[in-house]
Amino acid sequence: LDAILAGCAATYSNVHRGAHFLSGESTTAFEKARESAQKFVHAKRLEEIVFTKGATEAINLVAFGLGQSLLKAGDQVLITELEHHANIVPWQILRDTIGIELVVAPIDASGGLDMAEFAKLLTPRTKLVAVTHIANATGAVNPVADIVHLAHEAGAQVLIDGSQAVPHRAVDVQALDADYYVFSGHKLYGPTGIGVVYGKAALMEVLPPYQTGGDMIASVTFEHTDFQDIPHRFEAGTPDIAGVIGLTAAIDYIDQLGWDWIRAHERELLDYGVEMLNGIAGVHLVGAGAERSGVLSFTVDGIHPHDLGTILDQSNVAIRAGNHCAQPLLAKLGLYASARASLGLYNDRGDLDALKAAILRAQELFGR
Ligand code: PLP
Repeated sequence: LDAILAGCAATYSNVHRGAHFLSGESTTAFEKARESAQKFVHAKRLEEIVFTKGATEAINLVAFGLGQSLLKAGDQVLITELEHHANIVPWQILRDTIGIELVVAPIDASGGLDMAEFAKLLTPRTKLVAVTHIANATGAVNPVADIVHLAHEAGAQVLIDGSQAVPHRAVDVQALDADYYVFSGHKLYGPTGIGVVYGKAALMEVLPPYQTGGDMIASVTFEHTDFQDIPHRFEAGTPDIAGVIGLTAAIDYIDQLGWDWIRAHERELLDYGVEMLNGIAGVHLVGAGAERSGVLSFTVDGIHPHDLGTILDQSNVAIRAGNHCAQPLLAKLGLYASARASLGLYNDRGDLDALKAAILRAQELFGR
């Protein structure tokens, strides 16, 4: 917030336009933020970073562009049962508008992606694999390096939804060889309304723009428009300059803490939380496959997650209750809703103790 206020107070002006000092300063701050996002995901080139209003818009940007270029009727887009609605619905729209086939790779009994089934579903018709890095509803971690490798062998491009991964682990898009990698700022301790698409330059250069208008053009006549080069071609209109400044501050914060500390902190809390929840009779952790990250998703016998959320709130314990924008996954797990405690940098064991006490109180209230 301090960074946003300072940025706005010092240079509140639009980017890439005015010849005046303030616009120049704003543009410098904006483009420096692009550098910081580039370093954060280890992109090779600065132009490979495009700012959006979040992961949802980022996936829509790629889906729209591919729907206008690469994808044709009969082509397959392969997703998984672990996806957030944001990585399901844009592909359904392409199914309904241009006739692609949407194929869904299943999870196994442990809640992780069934890699054998995934591999079988890759066909010469698979043009894109769109998978989450970490499932927001359960915390299941996908083996994205293996997924990219298999998909590339099959000739498909890969989009990774990194929304839940970027706050929990260092991401190196070059090492992963991801074609597109997207995330939102607000899951990274940054502001809402800002997100990023990383896309390999060679692919972004041929991807049609998702939105058109000011700032993304090189020249316009009433007859014809030439677009700017990447990344500006994908950033039509006035961008969220304050959001971009806030995102940079969030990335700086992560950098200061360092991944070693962040990973160790998360590991400690996850182990503590899993043991604690497994130790309460009537509480069931939702399976997350071989590796769990970030969240503890669970149910309590005889208490609807919404009721649980309300009771926990009275003890100042804030959890998310519901389908987590992943209705197909919850349905597959035989659930309508779950309770989900998300573990952040600001949490400690005391918070998990408070969660336990609040669950016990809810069970008492419900006579369980
Ligand atoms: N993908 C995943 C895995 C998410 O968890 C979310 C948000 O919860 C999204 C996509 C959508 O992000 P946003 O709402 O910031 O666009």
